[in-house]
Amino acid sequence: MSQDLANEPSESLSVTISGGSMGGLFTGIALDSAGHDVTIAERSTGDLRSRGGGILAQQSIRQFLSRHDIIDPTRITTRASERRFLTVDGDVQTATPDSAVFTSWDAVYRQLRAAFPDDRYHTGRTVTDLKPTDGTVRFADGDRTTADLVVAADGGRSTAREQLFPDVDTEFADYVAWRGVVPEADLSDAVIDAFDDRFTFYKGNRTLILAYFIPGEDGSTDPSDRRLNWVWYDTLSGRERETIFTDTTGTSQQFSVSPGQLRDPVETRQRERAAEILPPVFTNLVESTTAPFAQAIYDLQTPQMTVDRVCLLGDAAFVARPHTGAGTSKAASDAVELKAALDRYSSLRDALASWNESRTDYGARLVARGKEMGDERLSLVS
Ligand SMILES: Cc1cc2nc3c(=O)[nH]c(=O)nc-3n(C[C@H](O)[C@H](O)[C@H](O)COP(=O)(O)OP(=O)(O)OC[C@H]3O[C@@H](n4cnc5c(N)ncnc54)[C@H](O)[C@@H]3O)c2cc1C
Repeated sequence: MSQDLANEPSESLSVTISGGSMGGLFTGIALDSAGHDVTIAERSTGDLRSRGGGILAQQSIRQFLSRHDIIDPTRITTRASERRFLTVDGDVQTATPDSAVFTSWDAVYRQLRAAFPDDRYHTGRTVTDLKPTDGTVRFADGDRTTADLVVAADGGRSTAREQLFPDVDTEFADYVAWRGVVPEADLSDAVIDAFDDRFTFYKGNRTLILAYFIPGEDGSTDPSDRRLNWVWYDTLSGRERETIFTDTTGTSQQFSVSPGQLRDPVETRQRERAAEILPPVFTNLVESTTAPFAQAIYDLQTPQMTVDRVCLLGDAAFVARPHTGAGTSKAASDAVELKAALDRYSSLRDALASWNESRTDYGARLVARGKEMGDERLSLVS
């Protein structure tokens, strides 16, 4: 293989992708559709299991699904036509017409996974090491491969980023997102009426909770199959992060505690706090949740998204706070823009340089916006 990227054409590339979640699949499908020879290596064994949360179905996600003939997005999305803020007593403080589209992580993942060929999606395959100059990728089992282009879509704890940018680190914010989903069948009519067709919020003192309906576990959007998704941003309220993020097995998790893994005292304290400070309809929702989970809020940004033949994509490069609703949609647009740059430029070097410039700028702006939104929405700054 030529070491000179400037002379290397950007068509019919061999591509190895590390990470087979959203970013890996968006990239795999986009580059495969352009005729590149793509293989995905995913560390997890078997199907990825979602933490079950909802996501905003931003336009980039919906467009990706329809333009690649994966599914009509209306089949796996729910809608709200009003944005509502409640008072602590549960009265309507403001109600503004505002349309929003939602889906669930698992509904989108399942569709993407089905659209990418099984024989080129390898599970239980962990990338341990990359050589950006010649595209060599090494795996935990000792195997190795070489590709024209390597895409590291291996998430917020990216092995590739740690190798390429060892000084880049996560910056934790002083609050946590508590999350849960409740099947519609388990909700009272009063709760369904309160949340149906609405994006509903309650903002208290350094606390913010929101809820919206998402598709059911099978992706169905029939009213009786849906789930109500809530996200509660709350300060640590005197606790150490370590206390919250040590799971039922005693393992200290840095980024999230999965459904069913929150320790009893941690879960009980948060349920009690719900009863103390949230409007009754949100307290009821938190109480109805059998397996809430917790997600650390952090910011992460890399100085650049390409090094020679390696691209960092999705959360591997930038993690913006969830208020932006942009994690999955950014992964989709990173992938679509990578394909477009490879189409537009005849040399791999020029394509990657152009992609790096525009996507690094976008990622940095998104992280900054997420910090502002978090600070404003939780009133962390006056
Ligand atoms: C199982 C799962 C469930 C999720 N559920 C939600 C949700 O409900 N709501 C939400 O907002 N976000 C969720 N996310 C996060 C969301 O997918 C991302 O924030 C966003 O979509 C960007 O995706 P990503 O592919 O860049 O990173 P991620 O989704 O974090 O995916 C990274 C992938 O890389 C794999 N990987 C890591 N290291 C290696 C390695 N060395 N070699 C090979 N593979 C590796 C991981 O197993 C993972 O599949 C979830 C992520 C996962 C993995």
